[in-house]
Amino acid sequence: MAQLGHQAGLLRGTLAVWERACGKPKCRCAEGRKHVWLYLVASYDGVVRQLYVPKEWEPRVRQWVEQYQAARNLLEQISALYWDKAEKRQE
Ligand SMILES: [Zn+2]
Repeated sequence: MAQLGHQAGLLRGTLAVWERACGKPKCRCAEGRKHVWLYLVASYDGVVRQLYVPKEWEPRVRQWVEQYQAARNLLEQISALYWDKAEKRQE
């Protein structure tokens, strides 16, 4: 788990896509092709953090987010196992 955090990267957050028209009349967004931003959103200690993710960072951040989810799923499975052990009084 620690190795995963150091080498592969873990990041708790949700990648969100925001679309927006900038308002310039001659821009492509005026014809409906809106600007797209990728943001990372998460709440830490009750505070919502948002971070703009540039295109070149998208694969890396996406990987970190996926790995966090995989690690969390793994923890859930281990926890379920120990839940059973506690229930059956197994060491
Ligand atoms: Zn525009």
